[in-house]
Amino acid sequence: MKTIALIAHDGKKAEILQFANDNKRALAKCALIATKTTGTLLKEHVGLKVKCYKSGPMGGDAEIAAQVANNKVDAVIFITDPLDAHPHDPDIHGLMRVCNVHNVPLATNIATAKLIVSTKGLFS
Ligand code: PGA
Repeated sequence: MKTIALIAHDGKKAEILQFANDNKRALAKCALIATKTTGTLLKEHVGLKVKCYKSGPMGGDAEIAAQVANNKVDAVIFITDPLDAHPHDPDIHGLMRVCNVHNVPLATNIATAKLIVSTKGLFS
């Protein structure tokens, strides 16, 4: 079973919920991990089973980065908000960096997330 990490900044949470709803069948076939607020919303509003780490600003992005570094994650969907400032900016960049170090697919917007979901062999 593939493991997918799902994270969205506050200004993008509605978008990730819509994305998860539209792709619920594909996502339900995967083990899902998420930062706390994103994961809780996915559980409550979409009905997906999600393992939640800490909230992003409290170290959740760093926890997920550690999972990526240990080859436990097959793709990261991290919907970032480029129009907002984030106190945990170093962790955000750390997660992106570790995805690039380990060549793990990383979507930072919904258009790319859709491409990842439609990739045969990853979700289907
Ligand atoms: P959250 O964290 O899902 O707990 O809101 C996301 C983030 O800001 O990185």
